[in-house]
Amino acid sequence: MERISVIGAGTMGRGIVYSCATAGFLTAVQDISEESLETCRSYINKQLERSIEKGLVTAEEAEAAKGRISYSTSIQETVAEAELVIEAVLEVMELKMDIFKQLDQFAPSTAILATNTSTMSPTEIAAQTSRPERCIALHFFNPVPKMKLIEVICGLETSEETIRKSFEFGKAMGKECVKINEFPGFAVSRMNCLIGNEAMNMVMEGVGSIEDIDKAIKLGLNHPMGPLELADLVGLDTRLRNMEYLYKTLGEKYRPCPILVKYVKAGRLGKKSGSGFYNYN
Ligand code: NAD
Repeated sequence: MERISVIGAGTMGRGIVYSCATAGFLTAVQDISEESLETCRSYINKQLERSIEKGLVTAEEAEAAKGRISYSTSIQETVAEAELVIEAVLEVMELKMDIFKQLDQFAPSTAILATNTSTMSPTEIAAQTSRPERCIALHFFNPVPKMKLIEVICGLETSEETIRKSFEFGKAMGKECVKINEFPGFAVSRMNCLIGNEAMNMVMEGVGSIEDIDKAIKLGLNHPMGPLELADLVGLDTRLRNMEYLYKTLGEKYRPCPILVKYVKAGRLGKKSGSGFYNYN
């Protein structure tokens, strides 16, 4: 594979674009928002500058990586020559379904269509296309350049060839892949959402301060980040959508904590909006 297209240039999309381009893939990214594309471009430039400072890449390699990326608001143009498309738009099923219908129409018939959904059914998304055997979920983690794992989630019709090519792609990106059979929340989100929601319930119950709950989990369970700090990094709006889907599909134990609902209503979306459980200003 040489040509990758990424749909959605938000938190995840821009990390995927950066990782693809630095791994040597020709990478085309599309978003409906010019502002998201501009943020994506400046994120990538900043990451590359940091990598030069740290001696991880040379200035020439950084320029070459930049040269491999193209930006567009047109989905048709972005996927026209794709061998693999990775969708990273909002966690809204109707939106993902609509995007997959367009990908099926505009991407070459041989292209693999992947979703970066954290929780939702790749089978349901693939059913919008005429090539469900070439559809899969590739679940990256945030921040993509640093996180080693890709969960490869197979839908009902996903072919062995699509799985094999996805593993090869993951390896070429320097990631580790695990094969997961479809079930809401897969392996990581199912566990992580539960831990995060329980930490939020503890804040609401007055069990401890935000800082102390995070510190307790970090040092007591040897987690690199506290669950509240992590929820802020993920984005509280994204986390709420994940919880709502898991509550709908897996039941009561995934009921979103009222604090999470309240924060999202107030526009406190975590690190990306300047405040969430912590203040970033
Ligand atoms: P985000 O809100 O940061 O970015 C979403 C982007 O999609 C925005 O730039 C938006 O403009 C764009 N978009 C919206 N509608 C579009 C359309 N019709 N066409 C093209 N672009 C469109 O969201 P995110 O956190 O990057 O999440 C994206 C996906 O990745 C979700 O499915 C989420 O569950 C999943 N995910 C998120 C994380 C995380 O930590 N944030 C981790 C793993 C997976």
